[in-house]
Amino acid sequence: MDEETTVMRAVLLGPPGAGKGTQADLIQKRLGVPHISTGDLLRTAVGNRTELGVRAKGFMDEGKLVPDDLVIGLIRERLHDDAAEGFLLDGFPRNVSQGEALGELLEESGVELDHVVSIAVPVDELVGRMLGRGRSDDNEDTIRARLEVYRRETAPLCEYYRERGVLREVDGVGSPQEISRRILSHFDA
Ligand code: AMP
Repeated sequence: MDEETTVMRAVLLGPPGAGKGTQADLIQKRLGVPHISTGDLLRTAVGNRTELGVRAKGFMDEGKLVPDDLVIGLIRERLHDDAAEGFLLDGFPRNVSQGEALGELLEESGVELDHVVSIAVPVDELVGRMLGRGRSDDNEDTIRARLEVYRRETAPLCEYYRERGVLREVDGVGSPQEISRRILSHFDA
């Protein structure tokens, strides 16, 4: 069957290992909304040894956030092209100042976010999933650092969206298809 094409602007939030990338891929297939992952864009830049990649690599290897100006520049370029047809952001924004920058970028394009969905998974399960993934920044020390960065910098962003009344939370434990259905039920509402 043809995939539906939906113009939707959504953000997937959640700790590392919550399945944001898997879900964004499934939703892209289902709704035709482009999946934009800053982690993937940064890994490509690192692989191609671009100036951005060279500057980002050390932060990524240590599980730290890449500085806001680099990531916001990257997303500005992408959203300039994508804002009109919609997007599903995974891994951005990652802190309140990135959230504010996203708001400004969208305002410049005269559009707004339709949905912000936070995927919740218990910490023990997150660590197990990340260790099983085998990515170069998925060793135990880096995982610990990324979970701490999430608690300190990204969790306040959930509050930021909650206060604005746009945050929806889904249980991120279950099969990818089940979790997808939970997310899509919020999109339909
Ligand atoms: P992810 O694939 O989303 O887990 O991202 C992998 C790594 O890329 C993170 O640990 C950060 O070092 C970096 N990164 C991805 N997205 C961002 C972002 N929005 N802000 C800062 N750093 C990011």
